Amino acid sequence: MNGETMSDDKNFDNEAEDTRDFRFELPNSSPVQPTRLELDDELKFRCHRGVSCWNECCSRADVTITPYDIIRLKNSLDMDSTEFLKEHTVPFELDAHGVPGLKLRTDEDGACLFMKEEGCSVYEDRPTACRYYPSGLLAMKSISEATDERHFLLISEPHCKGHDEDHIQTIGEYRKEQGVEIYDDLNHDWYQIILKKKSTGPTIGKPSDMSLQMFFMASYDVDRFRRFVMSESFIKMYDLTDEEYAELETDDIKLMEFGFTLMKQVFFGELVIKEREGAWDKRVEERREILEYRKQAEIAEHQRKQEEARKAALDSGIDE
Ligand code: SF4
Ligand code: SF4
Repeated sequence: MNGETMSDDKNFDNEAEDTRDFRFELPNSSPVQPTRLELDDELKFRCHRGVSCWNECCSRADVTITPYDIIRLKNSLDMDSTEFLKEHTVPFELDAHGVPGLKLRTDEDGACLFMKEEGCSVYEDRPTACRYYPSGLLAMKSISEATDERHFLLISEPHCKGHDEDHIQTIGEYRKEQGVEIYDDLNHDWYQIILKKKSTGPTIGKPSDMSLQMFFMASYDVDRFRRFVMSESFIKMYDLTDEEYAELETDDIKLMEFGFTLMKQVFFGELVIKEREGAWDKRVEERREILEYRKQAEIAEHQRKQEEARKAALDSGIDE
């Protein structure tokens, strides 16, 4: 148990196994075994410019980022999401089925690219994991429950001298102080999708490559996702009102939330977004027409080649 908290020392690795819980953690990764906390548990900690370890955590950053983190960061940096992902993130896999996750890119020594001598250069829009540190979010879902539970972690790393400061507050108060509540609220459906995917993994199996690409685009590449949603073929297929389409065209958060809804449809077959009447049949018919057109074109090309070969044989005097 970490002496600086009022929580019980729970080994939730064993607990997770016993109750068949599936979990998603959002800490800065660390070899230190975390302790589980609840909202009312106390945290003795304070980080400020005067600590002897200033910037040490950001010099060895391993920060998993969420969809809302990306919206905040790319808007703060005035970047397109595709450009942001290319410059500032590295991919990893969230589960054995290759569901894509992203971490902040670091320099070759492991330091976050946003770290400056005076501190974090994107402080107002720093990611969820940075706001939580030295705590973290632990979203858990039991196999028998429909929804997830929210717990917290405490990671007491020896280099972090903030634990020696004489300042005590509850995890609930710390979350408020760090402005992390809105992040958790807006990312909540996304955590649920990951947990549901983990807990129903064997039932639904490995998602197709197309589903995984859709997860990536809807979760992380919001500006590309917007082009997809505003495309003619999407609008023909899904029955949203003009107001809804107008909102998706201009509002990143509405678009992100719509992406989570679409993911439930893609991963779990939940028919939550209404399709236009007859749109699917029409699409199948159009597809059939395209396939027929391609088949006819291939036959014509084959005949043309045969005719050319016959003429070449005639010209060289090798007639049958
Ligand atoms: S985003 Fe800011 S707080 Fe987070 S690791 Fe980078 S420099 Fe540190
Ligand atoms: S006290 Fe902890 S969180 Fe603050 S700068 Fe030092 S290592 Fe980072």
